[in-house]
Amino acid sequence: MHFSRFPRIAIAHLPTPLEPMDRLSELLGGPRIWIKRDDCTGLSTGGNKTRKLEFLMAEAKEMGADLVITQGATQSNHARQTAAFAARLGMDCHILLEDRTASKEEDYNYNGNVLLDFLHGATAEKRAGGLDMNAEMEKVAEEFRKEGRTVYTIPGGGSNATGALGYANAAMELVNQSNAMGLKIDKLVHATGSAGTQAGLVVGLKAINANIPLLGIGVRAPKPKQEENVYKLALATAEKLGCPGVVEREDVVANTDYVGEGYGIPTEGCIEAIELFAQYEGILLDPVYSAKGGAGLIDLIRKGYFKEDENIIFLHTGGSAALFGYTKAFDFDKSALQIAAE
Ligand SMILES: *Cc1c(COP(=O)(O)O)cnc(C)c1O
Repeated sequence: MHFSRFPRIAIAHLPTPLEPMDRLSELLGGPRIWIKRDDCTGLSTGGNKTRKLEFLMAEAKEMGADLVITQGATQSNHARQTAAFAARLGMDCHILLEDRTASKEEDYNYNGNVLLDFLHGATAEKRAGGLDMNAEMEKVAEEFRKEGRTVYTIPGGGSNATGALGYANAAMELVNQSNAMGLKIDKLVHATGSAGTQAGLVVGLKAINANIPLLGIGVRAPKPKQEENVYKLALATAEKLGCPGVVEREDVVANTDYVGEGYGIPTEGCIEAIELFAQYEGILLDPVYSAKGGAGLIDLIRKGYFKEDENIIFLHTGGSAALFGYTKAFDFDKSALQIAAE
């Protein structure tokens, strides 16, 4: 895989650290858990979209775009990282936010990633849940083009073959890191949503013949749909990279047992994962993605899915900014914080 053949604006802080989580491993009593810190990619509180945007924003720049448009859920980490990347390049950014959760919470609608979108100078508009958001975005893009703007549109999650290059590259980075450390990786686990992360990883791991199985923990779609989305995008990504045929259908595995009520709605397991990572490792997960992935990891360890002598890598895809959109999910006892009356 020769990534220099593709335009790229390399601003992510790479390689991201690969660290053991010994306190959490000991608590759970299963395999040794490691964490690949893609929450530390360096752009506006970090996250996995930065790796994809390195390739996407380079295409935008090559075509001379003065405006990038993207879309996501209200608390989209992708929208926030796109807004920050555009600011860095001096481009305008316009975002369509989909009301996927119907939450009326003030913090959900205006704090967290939404606040950061505006701090980065992006403009935004809202859509009701359930629309074809990529189609909505193209309509808006047409209006801007009529005004003479040069517009580059980025699909939800930055998940197309260009964006997925970022995760094919991450697969190579992870394997190089583990080789340098003498660490044998038995499985890689991460949250999967718009599919670009898993598609890129599966192509990258297969293309270098790493023999590392990958498990995506779903946050939205049912298993057949999630795996199909990842597989289709993996085929397109392999094609783009010049290694068609490296990925087979059975290489794509998603477990969607941890979605709960739906996308963006915290589950008990996800709240527990946030608390355990925070209190045993000092690491912040987010309630929409990484904590649902973490909940899957924790539950599978408890069920004995992994062997005790295995090394399991949890890819931390970021998202902690969304915590501030979910303050109500973490109601804690505030009585100790009152100043005592005389
Ligand atoms: C977008 C996102 C994911 C999922 O990645 P996809 O490439 O969309 O599957 C996981 N975690 C976080 C924090 C994200 O923002």
